[in-house]
Amino acid sequence: MRKFDGDKLVVATHNAGKLREISALLAPFGIAVTSAGELGLKEPAETEDSFAGNARIKAHFAAKSSGLPALSDDSGIMVDALDGAPGVYTADWAETPNGRDFPMAMEKTWSLLEQKSAPHPRTAQFCCTLCLAWPDGHDEIFEGKVDGSLTWPMRGDKGFGYDPIFVPRGFDITFAEMDPDKKHAMSHRADAFAKLVRGAFA
Ligand code: IMP
Repeated sequence: MRKFDGDKLVVATHNAGKLREISALLAPFGIAVTSAGELGLKEPAETEDSFAGNARIKAHFAAKSSGLPALSDDSGIMVDALDGAPGVYTADWAETPNGRDFPMAMEKTWSLLEQKSAPHPRTAQFCCTLCLAWPDGHDEIFEGKVDGSLTWPMRGDKGFGYDPIFVPRGFDITFAEMDPDKKHAMSHRADAFAKLVRGAFA
C-alpha cells in the first residue's frame, strides 16, 4: 500500500455535498484541500459498471489534469428488493434536462418498491468507494458501506441525495434528520475513509 505523504490533495468531485463531507473528514489531517470544481477541471464520463471503476476514472483524471494526488468518491444506494438498483446509477436516476432532481429519484425508487409490494423493512445499503490516485498512475481503493432501510415520506433537510429516505440500522431518524457530525461518524463514506486513513495516512 502506497502512503500519502504530501500536504495537498484534490478532491475529485463537482458534487457540493460530497466535497463538504470529504473536506470535514480530511480536516484533522492538516491536508490542504482543493476540488476538481474549484480547479475548473472537466467531469469525466463515468462509463464503468462498478463503484471502483468509476472512482478510478474520476481520481486518475483529476490527478493527471492537476499534477496532484486526487481523491475521488463513487457512491450510491443499493436497494435489496430492487436487486441492488439504483447502485452505480444512483445519480443517473435523478438526472433531468434541468439538472438533478433527488425528490423525483426517491419517488421513483419508492414507487418501484410499492409496485412490487416489497416487504418491510425495505433494506438498503449506502456504498462508497474511495480512490486515491497519484499523477504517476498508481492508485489505492477503499470500500465502505452502511446498512439501513428506506422510509416514506421523505424526512429531514440536512445531508444530500437520498438521505431523506434512508434510516440507518439501529436508528429511527433518517440521515437527513441526523446531525451532520453523527452522520459523518457512521456513514458509508466514514467507513471507507477509516480504511483510507489506516491504509494510506498511517
Ligand atoms: P456519483 O458517485 O457521483 O455517481 O453519485 C452518487 C449518488 O449517490 C449521489 O449523487 C447521491 O445521490 C447518492 N449518494 C451518495 N452518497 C450519499 C449520501 O451520503 N447521502 C445521500 N445520497 C448519497
